[in-house]
Amino acid sequence: MDQDNQDRELGMQRAIPRRDFLNGVALAAGGVLAGDPLLAALMAEEFAPEKAPGYYPPALMGMRGNHDGTFTYAHSLRDGKPWDSAGPTVKTGETYDLVVVGGGISGLAAAYFYRQKVGASARILVLDNHDDFGGHAKRNEFRADKRMLLSYGGAQSIESPGEYSQVAKGLLSELGIETERFYKAYDQKLYSQLGTAAFFDKETFGADRLIPGMNATPWPEFLAKAPLSETARRDIARVYTERVDYLPGLSREEKLAKLGKISYADYLLKYCKLTPEALPFFQTFPHDLFCVGIDAVSARACYEAGDDYQSFTYPGFDGLGFPEHEKEEPYIFHFPDGNAAIARLLVRLLVAGAVPGGTMDDVVTARVDYSKLDAANSRVRIRLNSTVVHVQHADGEKARKEVEIAYVRGGKLATVHAKSCILACYNGMIPYICPELPQKQKEALSYLVKAPLVYTHVALRNWTPFQKLGVHHIVAPGGYHTYVALDFPVSLGQYQFPSTPEEPMVLFMLRTPCRPGLSPRDQHRAGRMELMQTPFSTFERNIRDQLARMLGGAGFDAARDIEGITVNRWAHGYAFTPNALFDPEWKEGEQPWVIGRKRFGSIAIANSDAGASAYSDVAIDQAHRAVTELTG
Ligand SMILES: Cc1cc2nc3c(=O)[nH]c(=O)nc-3n(C[C@H](O)[C@H](O)[C@H](O)COP(=O)(O)OP(=O)(O)OC[C@H]3O[C@@H](n4cnc5c(N)ncnc54)[C@H](O)[C@@H]3O)c2cc1C
Repeated sequence: MDQDNQDRELGMQRAIPRRDFLNGVALAAGGVLAGDPLLAALMAEEFAPEKAPGYYPPALMGMRGNHDGTFTYAHSLRDGKPWDSAGPTVKTGETYDLVVVGGGISGLAAAYFYRQKVGASARILVLDNHDDFGGHAKRNEFRADKRMLLSYGGAQSIESPGEYSQVAKGLLSELGIETERFYKAYDQKLYSQLGTAAFFDKETFGADRLIPGMNATPWPEFLAKAPLSETARRDIARVYTERVDYLPGLSREEKLAKLGKISYADYLLKYCKLTPEALPFFQTFPHDLFCVGIDAVSARACYEAGDDYQSFTYPGFDGLGFPEHEKEEPYIFHFPDGNAAIARLLVRLLVAGAVPGGTMDDVVTARVDYSKLDAANSRVRIRLNSTVVHVQHADGEKARKEVEIAYVRGGKLATVHAKSCILACYNGMIPYICPELPQKQKEALSYLVKAPLVYTHVALRNWTPFQKLGVHHIVAPGGYHTYVALDFPVSLGQYQFPSTPEEPMVLFMLRTPCRPGLSPRDQHRAGRMELMQTPFSTFERNIRDQLARMLGGAGFDAARDIEGITVNRWAHGYAFTPNALFDPEWKEGEQPWVIGRKRFGSIAIANSDAGASAYSDVAIDQAHRAVTELTG
């Protein structure tokens, strides 16, 4: 079949509203459709898209995450252009007690903690380069069959809240989040009759085949249907079932040390004696957690990931004599829009009237009034669509008591002044925007390469194919998206999760671009490059094609059953996390994220990058540390 016919069959001609151009650059460049009143309003003399009545980024589909327009000015700094190349500077004359760069959970928490410390009269400005606040904690909204479907653009769940620091627990509580409520809100029974399938694709395995019953059917029986060689099937079943000590003669500590120094791929090949033909089955298992495959993740990290993280069960450890994994808190602490709810609750407390309501229930369906975020009469202001390009002490090296912050908004360069500044943005970008930092600190910050990944959400007309197949997760080791799952079943407040298969549903699909064989940091750089060069149409075609191939046998029709697609492209995704196989064993205090986050005059550094751990509690803790450094 030629490409055109194939595209038609997949429904590529169906309208997916791609209104992802409401960002600074497209508008500044005059990318406006004639006759659209919303866009006409946006093109008014003052660049203030957030004030337009229809401005509501959570409902935008198409390419989201690091959407077009967010990186133009940042990348031109990276490419060596001077920060003031965007044109003459507009001095706004605005002065603040604190300017926060980055409106993710860390930046918003920093604003909150600062106000708590300094008092309600504190004047604070938060600048963010996206068209919505929340950073990775973004909200995706769909409409299907006249109902609203919610999902998350990035940060998914409050993971293990019992292990949060007192500071982070305290903040959740002040926001009104009672995590025990999720034991009821999250329907832990809805999918109990549905399991995991593996999808073997023809490009990787020679034939397309979807096999339900993974991790539930005895392995020899499950693998009998897989398009794998007899040797590969036998070997996979063997490592999953035999209880052999593959590291005999070593103590527990020595075993852990050894596992920490070899990749999981090497462990399977050299110690478990797995045939190389079987490796592709496991290659992408760690993508979700580590954004690289088993070539670049230590066997210890796979062991520690647990027995059954999102259906990925790593074999080979049962015979090592290790104690059973301690039971962790269930993975249920999930708002229907993920951790975007934390960001929305923070904004509710920071900016009066912007997020209506007063509870963790009503925030779920609250519609944010974006026109209120940057009101001149508000003590706390959040200015979106604003890329900070330069941060510098304005009163010389000796004083360092005043900071000038320059940002580009609507194509225009503007400056504001503040007594203090917190950089809660991607730490790897700080050397470009704050060149006055000491060289050693800049080098440390540059080490913190973030991991790229894509959270795609597809609104489906219904989920009967999943019901027919008896699955809610699909592991697709060679797929364009390597993991697919029905959304988390959470009903909170007025929001009711689609609980019958005939109802519309949001489907999650994970893609992690990487280049096996390189170091993780180089894999991340290569993956980021790939992401930035991949248009939405390529994603859409691959999404439709993969879903048709996986689910077609159960009645799924890609042209008929897809109601919306949002590709959350996180070119700058997870915070850098040290990798035992590739990074040095830094002494305490000499880790690049610790050197990198040092306060410099009136500038402090937050973001989860500063804690080298991609979690919301870390983002909060780092915000608190940065505020404490500035306020004493
Ligand atoms: C896909 C994905 C899934 C995740 N899932 C989870 C999860 O389930 N649970 C969990 O706890 N954590 C998760 N995380 C980790 C997540 O990063 C943290 O939880 C948290 O949201 C990070 O907040 P932050 O404020 O530190 O960083 P960010 O969310 O990255 O916010 C920083 C903000 O600064 C902006 N910025 C950067 N440079 C500039 C500039 N020059 N000018 C203006 N603005 C700038 C950025 O665009 C961004 O909006 C996930 C992350 C990703 C990418």
